[in-house]
Amino acid sequence: MPDIRSAIALTGGSDFWHSHAVPDAGLPEVMLTDGPHGVRKQAGSSDHIGINDSVPATCFPPAVGLASTWNPALLTEVGNALGEESRALGVGVLLGPGLNIKRSPLCGRNFEYFSEDPYVAGELASALVKGIQGQGIGTSVKHFAANNQETDRMRRDSQIDMRTLREIYLRGFQKVVTSAKPWTVMCSYNKVNGTYASENHFLLTEVLRDEWGFDGFVMSDWGAVHDRVKALKAGLDLEMPARAQHEAAVVAALEAGEIDQATIETAYSRIERILKLAQASLEGAPTQFDVDGHHALARKAAEQSIVLLANDGILPLAPGTDVAVVGEFARRPRYQGAGSSRVNPTRLDNALDAIAAIVGHEVPFAPGFSTDKKKPVGESAHAEAVEVAKNADVVLAFLGLGESHESEGYDRDTCDLPAEQLALLEDILAVNQNVVVVLSNGSSVLVTSFQARVRAIVEGWLIGQAGGPATADVLYGNVNPSGKITETIPYRLEDVPSFVHFPGDTTGVRYGEGLFVGYRGYDALATEVAYPFGHGLSYTTFGYSDLSVSSTDNGLSVAVTVTNTGSRAGREIVQAYVSVPGSKVVRVPRELKGFADVTLEPGASAKVEIAIGGDDLAFWSVTDEAWLVEKGSYTVDVGSSSRDLRLQASVDVAGNEPRRPITLESSIKEALAVPGFAELLNAVATSFGGGGLAADEEMMQMMLDTPISALLGFAGLSGEQIQPQLDQVNAQL
Ligand code: BGC
Repeated sequence: MPDIRSAIALTGGSDFWHSHAVPDAGLPEVMLTDGPHGVRKQAGSSDHIGINDSVPATCFPPAVGLASTWNPALLTEVGNALGEESRALGVGVLLGPGLNIKRSPLCGRNFEYFSEDPYVAGELASALVKGIQGQGIGTSVKHFAANNQETDRMRRDSQIDMRTLREIYLRGFQKVVTSAKPWTVMCSYNKVNGTYASENHFLLTEVLRDEWGFDGFVMSDWGAVHDRVKALKAGLDLEMPARAQHEAAVVAALEAGEIDQATIETAYSRIERILKLAQASLEGAPTQFDVDGHHALARKAAEQSIVLLANDGILPLAPGTDVAVVGEFARRPRYQGAGSSRVNPTRLDNALDAIAAIVGHEVPFAPGFSTDKKKPVGESAHAEAVEVAKNADVVLAFLGLGESHESEGYDRDTCDLPAEQLALLEDILAVNQNVVVVLSNGSSVLVTSFQARVRAIVEGWLIGQAGGPATADVLYGNVNPSGKITETIPYRLEDVPSFVHFPGDTTGVRYGEGLFVGYRGYDALATEVAYPFGHGLSYTTFGYSDLSVSSTDNGLSVAVTVTNTGSRAGREIVQAYVSVPGSKVVRVPRELKGFADVTLEPGASAKVEIAIGGDDLAFWSVTDEAWLVEKGSYTVDVGSSSRDLRLQASVDVAGNEPRRPITLESSIKEALAVPGFAELLNAVATSFGGGGLAADEEMMQMMLDTPISALLGFAGLSGEQIQPQLDQVNAQL
């Protein structure tokens, strides 16, 4: 342990992107930088919102794209490449991945998050973390926690009931922390139930360390610390970037006995241990990385990120098809989100050139609109695009959101595509019925107004520097699309389960939809949607047969046979959803609990196995303040999306609920579940002349929700009078 002043200094960064050196401990400054879908190492003056350029690095698809691959092995491969580039560029900790839940499609930062579902978010983020850390480079899982909007993000209080917090907003983090052991966690800006995340002892110490066993260090989001003394006491270790007055306050608090030296030393040791790991990886590291190899990997990732939302058979296109390309995004791709994660790509390929390369000549093109909402193009550009579209057999319309439409730092106020683009699409449809829409967007956009009138929709998300050729390959069938959406695409913004609660006001944002986030809510309310969670088409088709589900020592084992029933090789993502009919607690209709992919030649079949962990079957019991698996019959639905469920099976699960003795406050219904209580009830009823109670169905129905004490009260009996019999009933539990 160095002297206490050096220890205090290490609890704040030395500048925007570095930790302090501790010469006595042989520890140099270590660079911590964004991430997460590429290394953003600023060479010149520093800012953290992406204004100043950084040194070139591969721009892989951001989380919205990677998530649509549902491919943990691919994410680990991408993670490995990110780790390699970090090492080559001298970066010890890459700040990501972000895995906040997409509670509303309006969140400006959804491009950087994986899903509306914590299971798939947790699985994929774990895979990425394992890949990066496999190269000896740290990750910072962020933004912990409940940072689900950009509006007022540095102050807003996320007000969430405990079960929802645990099951939806913390669950993905829990999975990553327990399975991938990230070196660091980044706390978010916002408050959670009244306390800033940076000062939240419950989150940073009780949950993260005491329950989940996190043994790395917690750093703040940039500027999230209000009071470093309070933050250190709550479990934060590193303030980024540091503020001199915060450091001085720690010194003063130590002198005044308001903070223990041990608290500071603990934070120091956690940071030192992790940074020494980074130091060891960086020493003697190669200074080059495989630029071409990583570009090829970015392309492979982009190919699997693309989701074919709709197709009446027009796709794939034959290379000889007479096409016209309309839309600026074909020429100037939008391939990543705006803000702190912006990477300076090593190369940038567009779809227009890639299409020309496939068909062997240039294709007619008109930008049609501007991607910058502040600089709309004139009417002549619009008219030119309609003209180009008119003369082709097929129009490829590249529409989407420009950088100014969605970004870190603010939320959108609409889910619609820009009016200028919608107007252009209408005018094109008036002259040509064969339109394929290709979308570029970081969070879902509404397709309601044109979905039924275009011949195909390709969701091209933001998919990194090699997205252009990947998109062209999907359009022409060189790649059979296999991505599936991890966020529902609604018909109307008003249908989004969080709609009335988002984004709250200065008194806070109430997560009033509770557990019913995303598909959980749409399914519970039977809301029709444009495209359901888990949806994505292929150029082939898949059949499902022979589902078997059995209970194992730790969870469930699911097996199903998948057959490629079409005429092209393809990859299917098989999804397993679990529900608990007759559950004693509030449940959503079904939840994703497992998935696996399989690649099959035409006509081929394979058995796909999915293991569902016991932990994933658990619900958060508010009464017990613990994760419990309910005893009962569970239903497992297996299929191609959350609303394309092909096979169903039931299985008995033993559960691990604690024994719950019947008390006088138990309801008759609860008590009747215990053997012997029906007899006791009859005896009590007989004693006050109501002997036929148990036989009178209507009366019983009325009484089921009545507490035993109340029933006794009606009969003029006291609780003590039947306590001995209750004890006997309880003894049989
Ligand atoms: C973002 C973080 C980012 C940090 C450093 C913050 O504004 O919320 O995600 O890692 O800046 O750039």
